[in-house]
Amino acid sequence: MTIRTRLTWQFTIIVTAIVLLFSVFIYVFYAEFRREEYYSRLEKKALTTARLLIEVKEIDMNLLRIIDNNALNALHNERIMIFNLSNDLIYASTDDLDPLPVSPELLDRIRREKNLEWIHNTNETLGLTYDEGDTHYVVIASAFDIYGRRKLVNLRFILLAGSLVSIVIAFLAGRLFSGQALRPITNINREVSQISGDNLDTRVNTGNGQDEIAQLATNFNKMLDRIAAAFSLQKNFVHNASHELRTPLASIISQIQVSLSKERKEDEYKFLLQSVLEDAQNLTRLSNGLLELAQAEADTMRTRMNPVRIDEVLFSAQREALRSDSNRSIELTFSELPENEEALTVLGHERMLLTLFQNLLDNACKFSDDHKAAVSIAFANGFVKVAVSDNGIGISEEEVGRIFVPFFRSEPARQFKGHGLGLSICKKIAELHGGSIQVQSTLGKGSTFQVSLPHN
Ligand code: ADP
Repeated sequence: MTIRTRLTWQFTIIVTAIVLLFSVFIYVFYAEFRREEYYSRLEKKALTTARLLIEVKEIDMNLLRIIDNNALNALHNERIMIFNLSNDLIYASTDDLDPLPVSPELLDRIRREKNLEWIHNTNETLGLTYDEGDTHYVVIASAFDIYGRRKLVNLRFILLAGSLVSIVIAFLAGRLFSGQALRPITNINREVSQISGDNLDTRVNTGNGQDEIAQLATNFNKMLDRIAAAFSLQKNFVHNASHELRTPLASIISQIQVSLSKERKEDEYKFLLQSVLEDAQNLTRLSNGLLELAQAEADTMRTRMNPVRIDEVLFSAQREALRSDSNRSIELTFSELPENEEALTVLGHERMLLTLFQNLLDNACKFSDDHKAAVSIAFANGFVKVAVSDNGIGISEEEVGRIFVPFFRSEPARQFKGHGLGLSICKKIAELHGGSIQVQSTLGKGSTFQVSLPHN
């Protein structure tokens, strides 16, 4: 069921309940008012008749019948009876073939209760006592409220018809208003359904820019901005990755073609093979980098985390970095070691943390003439902070914001080997551990990369 239909029905049900309640209220009160008013007329009529018969000596039963039946206030289907103390009927306004059944018990009850109302054959019937000196009479009057009842039927019809019309109007109005209220959502829905990967630059209309729906549209547009950015990053990534793969592959193929073009000396073959090997190693490094990036992005890594001592990881990274190039020099400084060794421990993935620091040490040594890196460790607010500094080529202000983008390499760095994947891997690994990585750098002077990781 759509929201529009649901809102329409909810609105209709509420209005129906109110209208019906109101109608029932009016009907019940009017019916009660009619009843009371009719009984009061009946009482007046009964008392007048009794008074005329009992107090006016000149009036006998026949005359009273004539007066009763012709009076202006004669009631429809009216019957009046008067009984004396011995329960003898001393007056009856009509010789009706369907007289009111009056038993001595009923008369006694009227004498006891003084005033008794009941319905006899749809007639309102009233029994009351009338006292004249020591003589007590019982007067019973009965009549049919033909006009009052007709008015009641009319009222019932008016209320029913009115309620029905109101309910139909409520339904139509509910449908109209809910349609109007939901129109912006319908529009957004239509616009959104037309957005695909090919037109990610399309934005939905934000309407008046103020209400909740406008906020939804604005947030949706912001989300589209982020998706478009991620999408373009992804496109660039694939483009850059295939470019990086193609270069060494093309070089390998052309070298093999050259070597096969004619007979060559052994030295030349050795030289060619050496060059092919370098290209193949380059490819391996690239594919390893891509694999590490994919792993760092996989959430499943979170489930394989254990307590890891950062100082031990740093020593291992230092060892690995020195093994790959003996010209390097890496200095580890633990000036402010914590009293509690727990502060040195992070919940993490040891091999990935090793990759992170190895990449930073490799870069520091690679991008500096002295091939030196200095590592220091600090502890603050539940974080272990490891800083890797060098006195190398540094990064310009314009480029520093882009160095964590996969395959980005700054202008001065292009003379060094690399694919531009290391730092993006480092960033992903730091984030996977709930940490972050920051850089401070001056072009031509050196850089400091600081990794913050929450300790265990
Ligand atoms: P690669 O080292 O393969 O170029 P990285 O992702 O590790 O790729 O680094 C990306 C870029 O960031 C480098 O090309 C370089 O421009 C810059 N960079 C990283 N580390 C340093 C550093 N220690 N000194 C100067 N520039 C650096």
